[in-house]
Amino acid sequence: TYILGIETSCDETSAAVVQDGRIVLSNVIASQADIHKRFGGVVPEVASRRHVENITLTIEEALSQAGRSLDDIHAIAVTYGPGLVGALLVGVAAAKAISFARGIPLIGVHHIAGHIYANRLVEEMQFPLVALVVSGGHTELVLMRAHGEYEILGETRDDAAGEAYDKVARALKLPYPGGPHIDRLAREGEPRVPLPRAWLEPDSYDFSFSGLKSAVLNTLHNASQRGETIDPADLAASFQDSVTEVLVEKTIRAAKEYKARQVLLAGGVAANRGLRERLQRRCEAEGIALVIPPLSLCTDNAAMIAAAGYIQYQKGQFADLDLNGVPGLSLS
Ligand code: ATP
Ligand code: MG
Ligand code: FE
Repeated sequence: TYILGIETSCDETSAAVVQDGRIVLSNVIASQADIHKRFGGVVPEVASRRHVENITLTIEEALSQAGRSLDDIHAIAVTYGPGLVGALLVGVAAAKAISFARGIPLIGVHHIAGHIYANRLVEEMQFPLVALVVSGGHTELVLMRAHGEYEILGETRDDAAGEAYDKVARALKLPYPGGPHIDRLAREGEPRVPLPRAWLEPDSYDFSFSGLKSAVLNTLHNASQRGETIDPADLAASFQDSVTEVLVEKTIRAAKEYKARQVLLAGGVAANRGLRERLQRRCEAEGIALVIPPLSLCTDNAAMIAAAGYIQYQKGQFADLDLNGVPGLSLS
């Protein structure tokens, strides 16, 4: 079974062909990061326009790299939320047009389900499992008892983890997106700057990063008031230490409580080396199997959307041609 995946929820235009939900035949990603860099963030109107310019070629390229034509495609899986509405609409419109013109079934996929299913391109899922989803817009602990079934155990009450990384990076005058820069800088420093950990209520699986972000900004501000300098590498290491400790410990606690057979890491922040290493170490110590996708499948891509779409294909969960982009789409 061949699924054509399409992803345009943010600033990556991507199309992919995935076989049986597990084998990536192609995964073409046209990133706009360089364009948005000079604005210090994604500009929605610019993103939509670039998606329109890129979408047709990206789909053609994905088919050609897979050595397949539309005649071979069994279904088109497209991200329909959450994300920027003008960006989502470009992918949804393209998917609907092909579906209508060629009579190929249409499947609407939740973007975060896609991030989680990036893991299935690496290893078969074993239920129950706990997925830690950390991206530019989301920070969630998700319990899955079966394919396509998502129970949100906890989520961020303010900033997403990636958002916190990007804001702290901006305060340190690092380029956008800042996550990878903080990650690199953190390796050159020591976590000796005292920063808070937002554990929240003892039984809560929720997260909060705005207090930590403010603490970083205050530390910088107070130091400059006193005419002192703070080693940015130490500050980055301390910030990363605080973020990853809370993310990892809550994930481990959830995995134990729900007797998870697997822990999955998903979303753009899964590229973070500090987080990967810490989660690896803790899962090993607790004897929990951990799956982490390669970096190329952690950030936005259409292969993960096709992988999630394949489950819906098997369940016969198809969309009509009135499918619309839903910016605030919920997962459960
Ligand atoms: P969402 O998936 O919630 O809609 P998004 O698609 O914009 O948001 P992704 O593309 O999954 O998010 O991830 C982008 C985020 O990941 C950015 O905030 C970026 O800074 C962060 N990120 C990427 N690499 C790293 C890294 N090595 N360390 C920390 N953060 C990183
Ligand atoms: Mg992105
Ligand atoms: Fe994403």
